[in-house]
Amino acid sequence: MLSVSNLEVVYDDVVLVLRGLSLEVPSGSVVALLGANGAGKTTLLRAVTGLLVPHRGKITKGTVRLDGEDITGADPAEVVRKGIAQVMEGRRIFAEITVDENLRAGAFTRGSRTEVRESYARVLDLFPVLAQRRKSIAGYLSGGEQQMLAIGRALMARPRLLLLDEPSLGLAPKLVEQVRDIIATINHQGTSVLLVEQNAVMALSIAHSGYVLETGKVVKDGRAAELLADSDIREFYLGAG
Ligand code: ATP
Repeated sequence: MLSVSNLEVVYDDVVLVLRGLSLEVPSGSVVALLGANGAGKTTLLRAVTGLLVPHRGKITKGTVRLDGEDITGADPAEVVRKGIAQVMEGRRIFAEITVDENLRAGAFTRGSRTEVRESYARVLDLFPVLAQRRKSIAGYLSGGEQQMLAIGRALMARPRLLLLDEPSLGLAPKLVEQVRDIIATINHQGTSVLLVEQNAVMALSIAHSGYVLETGKVVKDGRAAELLADSDIREFYLGAG
């Protein structure tokens, strides 16, 4: 479904951050993207969703394809229309408006009111906690609820592919589990997922396959179970040999 090939990204015309990165997200799958801070994971997501420009970044080589169509360098709204939605790191919800208004803002690409109503019902079904707090100001929600809202807002666009940037960051273990279950449910309902995570165990426990990035390049990839059993990965992420 998503095919990134030999991608090179530069910030400020000088800082080379992705150095010929290639990866695939097959249709219907969850793919984990692992790597230390600064490896280039967020940059890859920005390159896919057209969000490099505000960060003074540029694709200098390579292609991004969605179902075979070249979308390299497409602008963010166009990318959403084509079926990709992103949940950025740090739960960037609109803190000063209600949960309800946040969700509706996520539906900006949807054509009709019926479509918006449908998405809305689906999201509230998936997140009963948001249904209860529909009228609350989003900034007053707990960290976990804000993460649910950020995911819910992305789902309002009915993406075929969802990109998630560290959804478990800063959440208590019980909430990490909830986020993981939600991702699994979303995937079972037919959405493909590219999951950026520091929490390798969480990511690999629901992913079908995974990639490990180091300084802008893939240094390892394979089936999730293989990566989970890999001694380098275990040592790096779990402190175990
Ligand atoms: P993290 O988990 O910390 O978000 P990451 O793997 O997502 O790490 P990126 O955020 O993609 O990594 O950053 C990769 C490299 O690019 C880092 O060295 C970072 O300092 C650099 N970088 C990111 N954004 C910019 C920018 N706007 N201008 C210059 N350099 C940048």
